Amino acid sequence: MVSQPNGANGQKGSFPSSDRIILTTYPGQSVVNPIPLNWGAADPHERGPVLVSRASSTITKRNAIGAHGGSYAVYNALAIAAGDLPYNFLPSFENTHPTFDFPQQPAWGDKRKIVAMDPFGHEVSRLYKNHLDDGLDVRPTIAVTRATMRLAEITESLREGCLQVDGDIVISKEGDVRVTKAAVEPVWYLPGVAERFGIDEGSLRRTLYEQCGGSFPELITRPDIKVFLPPIGGLTVYIFGPPDRVSNPNVRLALRIHDECNGSDVFQSDICTCRPYLAFGVEEAIKEAQAGGSGVVIYFRKEGRALGEVVKYLVYNARKRGGDTADKYFARTENIAGVKDMRFQALMPDILHWLGIKKIDRMLSMSNMKYDAITQQGIPIIERIPIPDHIIPQDSRVEIDAKINAGYFTTGKRYTDEELSKVQGRGWQSWEDVVH
Ligand SMILES: [Zn+2]
Repeated sequence: MVSQPNGANGQKGSFPSSDRIILTTYPGQSVVNPIPLNWGAADPHERGPVLVSRASSTITKRNAIGAHGGSYAVYNALAIAAGDLPYNFLPSFENTHPTFDFPQQPAWGDKRKIVAMDPFGHEVSRLYKNHLDDGLDVRPTIAVTRATMRLAEITESLREGCLQVDGDIVISKEGDVRVTKAAVEPVWYLPGVAERFGIDEGSLRRTLYEQCGGSFPELITRPDIKVFLPPIGGLTVYIFGPPDRVSNPNVRLALRIHDECNGSDVFQSDICTCRPYLAFGVEEAIKEAQAGGSGVVIYFRKEGRALGEVVKYLVYNARKRGGDTADKYFARTENIAGVKDMRFQALMPDILHWLGIKKIDRMLSMSNMKYDAITQQGIPIIERIPIPDHIIPQDSRVEIDAKINAGYFTTGKRYTDEELSKVQGRGWQSWEDVVH
């Protein structure tokens, strides 16, 4: 298969072949010769690299379905279609290696403990150098770097004397904070994912195939391939303090697991508690690290309970027009999405196993779903810390009180249905009348 130069056959972009499209493959075909991938092997060489690229050098050796980059795979396709990126482009990974070498954990070699990420995904250019030297398109699915960050709430806490500059973690009174962070793309070991959900692998594969518009026919035709890189967002780990402390069971750990809420996290909409709880999580993580422990915040790209912002805003409208009370909070989402939540925390604890977290001293989350998922994976949670009352925005009482009533952890009051019907959000009355 040869790349076509741009403009060949009057078409823009580059293609592996101008006359033949491979719709799918089957085991045993002469063009199918996958490099073995033994998921759960503790030795990375015995485990083998994850190969998903359709570059000419790699396509016959693929041992995974899908594409790199999560949802950004679509932009990669656009770049190739537009002729900006050659079909057979191979990246250079010079100087991209991690800023911290996470010590290998027993879970990296346990195919029941890590099913939704590649435990060797950060070390690809070192571990699989021989394959890279052979011209194969092996790519990292994890990247580890360092940054200095500044949050307004942290700056405010420093000003108020609730937090101190220590010179290592908090490095200025303006609120500059040092952090080690790791970005992780999803890599699913399908038998393990199916097991977490208590379903059979065949049903999972068929539903993924059908509900993604028939995008990945090899989910059906290649049962020998067990690994799938799904077109979804991943996660980012933020570590405060020395990263080697995270896996040390002898130091305390404060942890927040946060699911994306762009409207609040970034733009500080006051309809929910996401940004205040996230900032509180960061501050508590910093304090734990300053006290000699470790602080970790993990940010999952699961916007709007993994329903997306369009559904979320439809729900906002239904809430505000229908009388926004806490007793109807979940029903508004269920009417539109069919479920109240699609975040499915079952895969979330993989990152904790990868980091080598053995217990959580302070869990900065009230979610019963997160609590259950983590403890079911054998990681005890010693103390749960609810969001402090004084940082809950007034309009978000509807959300937080409905969640508490539905099983979220609280050290405070649980409401009756009658009381919930009286917890009301801000209306639009004085807004819709305004002529813009
Ligand atoms: Zn939110």
